[in-house]
Amino acid sequence: MNTPHHYDLFVIGAGPGGYTAALLGARKGLKVGIAEGAQCGGVCTNRGCIPAKSYIESIGLVIRMANAQRYGLDPVTASLSLENLHRRKTRIVTRLVKGIEHLLSRAGVDVYPGYARFTGEHSLHIGEAHVEASSIIIATGSRPKRPALFDVPGLMTSDEVFDLRSSPASLLIVGGGVIGMEMAHIFSHLGAGVTVVEAMERVLATEDEEVSRTLVSAYRKIHFVTSARVVSVEKNSQYSLTVETPSGRQTLIGDSILLCVGREAVVPNGLSELGIALTPAGGILVDGTMRTNLPGVYAVGDVTGAHMYAHVASKEAQVAVARILGDTTRTMDYSAIPSVVFTHPEVASVGRSRDGEGRKTGTFPVSSLGRARTMDESEGFATVLCSPEGLMERVTIVAPHATELISWASLAVQRRLSVEEFLAPCYPHPTMAELLKEAAEDVLGLSINKP
Ligand SMILES: Cc1cc2nc3c(=O)[nH]c(=O)nc-3n(C[C@H](O)[C@H](O)[C@H](O)COP(=O)(O)OP(=O)(O)OC[C@H]3O[C@@H](n4cnc5c(N)ncnc54)[C@H](O)[C@@H]3O)c2cc1C
Repeated sequence: MNTPHHYDLFVIGAGPGGYTAALLGARKGLKVGIAEGAQCGGVCTNRGCIPAKSYIESIGLVIRMANAQRYGLDPVTASLSLENLHRRKTRIVTRLVKGIEHLLSRAGVDVYPGYARFTGEHSLHIGEAHVEASSIIIATGSRPKRPALFDVPGLMTSDEVFDLRSSPASLLIVGGGVIGMEMAHIFSHLGAGVTVVEAMERVLATEDEEVSRTLVSAYRKIHFVTSARVVSVEKNSQYSLTVETPSGRQTLIGDSILLCVGREAVVPNGLSELGIALTPAGGILVDGTMRTNLPGVYAVGDVTGAHMYAHVASKEAQVAVARILGDTTRTMDYSAIPSVVFTHPEVASVGRSRDGEGRKTGTFPVSSLGRARTMDESEGFATVLCSPEGLMERVTIVAPHATELISWASLAVQRRLSVEEFLAPCYPHPTMAELLKEAAEDVLGLSINKP
């Protein structure tokens, strides 16, 4: 084994958590190294956010083109081919991965290709290389859960689905959470007969009930089977999935199965021997500054097993690097983490649902918004929930561009703005932002456009 290379900061995993930490550490003058076992960019860039959104963007265009006549155009034919979507996705991903590699190299970060394993609290092996570091950030992400019941040949998870070059004629998606619903959106537009099987009473169960209702009615072609527990999976010429529901057993048949039942943390080798503390769900336990129970060892992103979003991973990376640089005041604030779902209409929410006396809500429908009408969109709404004192606590948006609008609402919820403060700026017209304005005005009984 070679003599160890020493770093101020060594990062394991080059996904959004890891590469953010490495780049920030280098920007702040630390000597930084990073190990990546697969591709820079992590799940987000290679098998997650970016591939999914690249497909969804093309589908959005096809939806608009299919409605050409409603926009006053001559009819246009646009057909979707997964082969073409795959090619476009590969181009986008390759460019982004190269971009991250370039940023790391320009920042002077040493990149070690390979899987790192701990040999001590401050030492790691990556293949033949041996590194030591004063601080280590674990950003090894997560993998799709695959319960033993689903150990059937050919069954896909999100790790495999972006390799498909043609769509199955029929697809059974197990899990109606964020990833399951985005996949249902993609494959239903690719022409597959899609069935979504969900164990909870409704899909997108972490969102408000009205959100689930709106989406189910927007996807009339998708077959939703809720409150359904999968009891067996078999593969013959097709797959058959037997589910137990309150109305009895049903067997569902499909050409493929896509498993979207959640993700689990990927904990690097050697850590359990060092006595790393884990959460009950198997993620690495951290405090508010992302420190683990091992001195000088931090964890950020999906590997902590909570809030599995790329934007959370990069925010946690900023907090960990600040702590390494001696800032003890900066802690992670999870009170206003936006959740985003890129369906049609899009869904986004921020803040916590709270029950109780005196809370005020305001809502406004997409169908009454001028800008939405010019876009030929009418499904969805925004809801603003305020505390009895009138402070903004939660915002839910189901609308075109909801995933963009939510950043604005996040600022209001995170800063605990009053609804009057949120309404203080002048909102441009005609915009989708007016959906938020009208919903906030409705809290005060002042939405003059509300039907
Ligand atoms: C289909 C899908 C769609 C998604 N859409 C969105 C979205 O729209 N918005 C959003 O915010 N989030 C989305 N996510 C979630 C998002 O991808 C993750 O939250 C994010 O990638 C987590 O970042 P991370 O840095 O913690 O880990 P990852 O991105 O998982 O990166 C971890 C990296 O560590 C590497 N690694 C693991 N072990 C080792 C080791 N021992 N040594 C060296 N390297 C190692 C892995 O190869 C990987 O590259 C989506 C996920 C999926 C699957």
